[in-house]
Amino acid sequence: MHPILAYMEQHKQEIIDDLKEFVAIESPSNDKAAVDRLSRVLAERFAGAGANTEFLPRENRGDLLRMAWGVGQEPGQTMVLCHMDTVFGVGEIAKNPLRIENGRLYGPGTSDMKGGITLLLWALRCMKELGLQPKRKVLALLTSDEEIGSHAAREVIEEEARRSAIALIAEPAMPPKGALKTWRKGTADYHIYITGKPAHAGADPTKGISAVEELAHHILTLQKLTDMSVGTTVNVGVIQGGSRSNVVAPEASAHIDVRFMTMEEAHRIEGIIKGLKPVLPGAVLRVEGGINRPPMVRTEATVALFQKAQALAAELGFDVDEMGTGGASDGNFTSGAGCPTIDGLGACGDGLHTFEEYVVVDSLPQRAALLVRLLQEA
Ligand SMILES: [Zn+2]
Repeated sequence: MHPILAYMEQHKQEIIDDLKEFVAIESPSNDKAAVDRLSRVLAERFAGAGANTEFLPRENRGDLLRMAWGVGQEPGQTMVLCHMDTVFGVGEIAKNPLRIENGRLYGPGTSDMKGGITLLLWALRCMKELGLQPKRKVLALLTSDEEIGSHAAREVIEEEARRSAIALIAEPAMPPKGALKTWRKGTADYHIYITGKPAHAGADPTKGISAVEELAHHILTLQKLTDMSVGTTVNVGVIQGGSRSNVVAPEASAHIDVRFMTMEEAHRIEGIIKGLKPVLPGAVLRVEGGINRPPMVRTEATVALFQKAQALAAELGFDVDEMGTGGASDGNFTSGAGCPTIDGLGACGDGLHTFEEYVVVDSLPQRAALLVRLLQEA
């Protein structure tokens, strides 16, 4: 067995115990005090593993935790990105307790992504105890609001990504076999607001302008912008409008989610949405919103990085595949800043954001070992 994997296997129970401890400190994105509680515990644990830790204070979100580790044999830095926040509220662990069943550790945030944080901690501990140095200095950033858009962290993520040779994102691996993610779609979000004119639907229908009718024209136009052949999806996910069935609707609105593979496509779709014109005479149409996360693009450098990870996993005795997803992460920001990025380096598991969320316990030593090897070689 590879000595690094052997180290992780020897410490498997401690890795599980650490993960349980971090899951038990619940940390919903919108609860600063809760996320701060977790980050203080983590800072102490990472400091014990040899990291220089620093908090970047935030007002309404948890403070960010930035850490540097090692000297590096080459100049520059390797960025590792994790988020401490989860989609679960404080107290939910009572309804969804930590438990191991059939080799799976269930609990809120086990996979997304306290598993990834735990793997990073053990990767650094292992390197410290075995006297190993990384290829480049490790810059680890633990963010606090990834699940609600990363507004508190985006600037720092992009700034550090521009300084980094590569970015490793410890989000959960893709089920069923723990594939890494080499691409993610970008995201955009729009609201359309329509103003018509109310009128009595029976007595004076011709005096009104129906905002609902106006919106209906655009719903079909928007849905038809979906083009799976290039990976673009446009989803009119929410509509609202009207007041009563016997009143011509004075207002209507729609909330739209857009996903895309390239910025070019993002701009093309945005041009169409922002260029929508009213169809009914007298109706007023207003569009708000824009592009949120750029796509994480499968560049040549990303492919090379993935192939390196695959070769290192093979040396450790397991396979990793490559996949992509329509879901976004902070890897979108590192990639958008021009930094070759691979994602899904966290624990293998499934059921993210549900009470069925779990990590596969046996995957923890393997994935921790892979992280060490990437820090050494990639
Ligand atoms: Zn996540």
